[in-house]
Amino acid sequence: MSFNPLTLNNIFLALTAWGAAFLVALWASLIIWTYRDIKSRARDPLIRILAALVVALLFIPGILIYLILRPTVSLEEEYQQTLEEEALLQAIEDNQLCPGCGRRIKDTWQVCPNCQTKLRKPCYKCSQLMELPWNICPYCGTPAPGMRREGLTMDEALRGIPIPPADLAEEIIPDKEQPEE
Ligand SMILES: [Zn+2]
Ligand SMILES: [Zn+2]
Repeated sequence: MSFNPLTLNNIFLALTAWGAAFLVALWASLIIWTYRDIKSRARDPLIRILAALVVALLFIPGILIYLILRPTVSLEEEYQQTLEEEALLQAIEDNQLCPGCGRRIKDTWQVCPNCQTKLRKPCYKCSQLMELPWNICPYCGTPAPGMRREGLTMDEALRGIPIPPADLAEEIIPDKEQPEE
């Protein structure tokens, strides 16, 4: 086997070409990876271009700089965090306590099942639940039974109450027949 400088030169050239092609491919891949990565972390198009540009110009040191400076949380993670925080906040708001025994109650309950404290009252007309201090139903505008503005005569107070539906009318009529003062 004789020493052939031409063959050696060819091998050297092939290796150099292969190495150069590999570096170009690596360079392009890093730019693409950086762009995809910054896209999931930043909404600002200027920051996205800047990040890709740093890697394109500085190559390996550029990717190091990018990895150090990139936003730690991706947009997806940020969104998930917001959802979790909102869910937590909702859970705290929903977590109402009975004023009588301090146990957890639901806002659809009328009475605490544990200590029987009255929690809410239903509107006699539309049956929506009202807070105990409310004098008028916020859903249908019916005044709560027994509630009437001060300084009104019985007649004036009754005029303010809408005419009840037919099935309730029978229960209401005897009240109207009471003698007036
Ligand atoms: Zn209770
Ligand atoms: Zn009502």
